[in-house]
Amino acid sequence: MSVNRQNYLLTPKGAGMAQLFFRYGAMASGKSIEILKVAHNYEVQQRKVLLLTSALDDRTEVGEIASRIGLTRPAQAISDQDDLFALIQNESDIAAVLIDEAQFMTKDQVMQLTRVVDEINIPVLTFGLKNDAFNNLFPGSEALLIYADKIEEMKTLCSFCGHKATMNLRLTDGQPVYEGAQVQIGGDDSYLPVCRQHYNHPDLDALARRVKTSGFDKNENELTI
Ligand SMILES: [Zn+2]
Repeated sequence: MSVNRQNYLLTPKGAGMAQLFFRYGAMASGKSIEILKVAHNYEVQQRKVLLLTSALDDRTEVGEIASRIGLTRPAQAISDQDDLFALIQNESDIAAVLIDEAQFMTKDQVMQLTRVVDEINIPVLTFGLKNDAFNNLFPGSEALLIYADKIEEMKTLCSFCGHKATMNLRLTDGQPVYEGAQVQIGGDDSYLPVCRQHYNHPDLDALARRVKTSGFDKNENELTI
């Protein structure tokens, strides 16, 4: 059987020190599907994973990791009051912890994850957005960029051109917005992965055509990561 040999996934237990991973990417860069894939890779080896996601994410069911290709699975929803070290320490036989929507964690929670890695030697893989719709770092992402052992970018294309998307353009009623609350999940906004040029100069005609032809499917363009 062919096995994914990405070293952070399937390192045999005891083969080394656990690490804290942060994989970031713009909207629609495949983060949720990657989590589901990593979980599957562990589970085919009969190794148990703990899946966590943010309770802030109410796009689908609270406590669900949903990929845009339709695969979903339950995950434990965490709020910013949860002590992640205590939560993880209370689980038994965990081979790895996988966290979606990691940008919404607090700095304290990221510090708790460093203790999970350093003190109980469980790898923690976090996935999330780096910058918000106004190009400020999310608190969880800022702390992860500082404290993670390994940081990787997950790439996706700009919605308007072939360049890499590094930013997320927020749309309200199909129009770009450049100010507002950092976290605005569950509203009528949608997001597009874009390059810097198209963040600053989105092609509004193309947007309008898209609205006309697709009705701007909210679910397609929303925060699904
Ligand atoms: Zn572009």
